[in-house]
Amino acid sequence: MSQEGITTRLVHADRRTNLEYGAIHAPVHNSVPYGYDNCQDLVDVFQGKQAGQAYARQSTPTTDLLAKKITELESGHNSLVFGSGMAAVTALFIALLKSGDHIVASRYLFGNTSSVFATLSGFGVDVSLIDACDINEVESALQPNTKMVFVETIANPATQIVDLEGIGEICAQRKLMYIVDNTLTTGYLYQAKNHGASLVVNSLSKYFGGHGNALGGSVTDTGLYDWSEYPNIYEGYRSGDPRNWGLTQVKKKALRDYGGSLSSTQAHLLSAGSDTLALRMDRQCGNAMALALFLDSHPKVAKVYYPGLSSHPHHLRAKSWFKDFGALVSFDLVDGKDGIAFLDACNIVINATHLGDNRTLALPVAPTIYFEMGLEARRKSGISEGMLRCSIGIEDSADLIADFEQALDLI
Ligand SMILES: *Cc1c(COP(=O)(O)O)cnc(C)c1O
Repeated sequence: MSQEGITTRLVHADRRTNLEYGAIHAPVHNSVPYGYDNCQDLVDVFQGKQAGQAYARQSTPTTDLLAKKITELESGHNSLVFGSGMAAVTALFIALLKSGDHIVASRYLFGNTSSVFATLSGFGVDVSLIDACDINEVESALQPNTKMVFVETIANPATQIVDLEGIGEICAQRKLMYIVDNTLTTGYLYQAKNHGASLVVNSLSKYFGGHGNALGGSVTDTGLYDWSEYPNIYEGYRSGDPRNWGLTQVKKKALRDYGGSLSSTQAHLLSAGSDTLALRMDRQCGNAMALALFLDSHPKVAKVYYPGLSSHPHHLRAKSWFKDFGALVSFDLVDGKDGIAFLDACNIVINATHLGDNRTLALPVAPTIYFEMGLEARRKSGISEGMLRCSIGIEDSADLIADFEQALDLI
């Protein structure tokens, strides 16, 4: 039986849950507590013997429906949603690690995730940050106490693509948890499950929502990891189908206890935004490719970082693993040209952090988001001091290129 495409499934998901009045969007349930006529039902919900809501810090009907859409997108078993991408990332570590554990992580990471790893070191969790583009580095970093390998798909801002396939194979052989932050690609461009990911993280604030009007994050369990093999599952969560143990523990130990919860209002905005995920990403990737080609041939541009260019060191990985090359384009101007003056000369491009927005946003990364990490770590991450990062939006391609062109002319 052929399965419907992802856009068809996303846009019809809500109404297929039998909404009242024929609504096509699920209602926004803003209630914090959920009451039961029969007190035994409340008891059963608390004990997990009956499905239902209890308190909005763990879930609401609205956040549950959003989680289902993400599960569809990532072809997963189930998902949890959080108040931000960082809440989702941090939740995994809080819920699944103990002092004395070790993580192997790509050194090419979202800056705040690197910062969380530094915090974890203070709690007795050891982190090895390695060049995950090279499978030998991953393999030699593994230790007997390694619990997980954590990577991103297209690294921000220098667009390296780690050996997603090779890491998946190693993790499967060694029964290690493999966590992929799929924010830059989403399940639309890349199915991390196909390379053996155990858990897939997404910042919903980026491409998934797309409109820059709501924060959110998610964790999807692909169903591939055998939680009965994982030593850190507490006794109380080792009952029923082992496929549910991991996210049950993440829900209780992180979402419930630490409380990085998503509100129903935000969930609704993200959910509506996701209707157009595929349309937006197709357009953004097309715009990014056109702009990368333009910049690559411009005399005032020294280097362009975009996986769609055949000169990119990981072009072939991106070509064979991803549906398209993403919409993050970074570049260096030639010596003597000022990136800040360039950005100030742009009319359409907005000086702003964030990515995956409908609008094109850009910023110099060394003095902003990667300032705190310091020069040495920037070098190791492949971040040049003058690098400009552009998150390409859905504007008309010709307008975007014309804006870059006139700003380059002015500097
Ligand atoms: C933005 C981002 C995050 C964090 O998401 P927020 O929703 O901003 O908290 C995590 N990982 C990656 C790769 C990101 O780009």
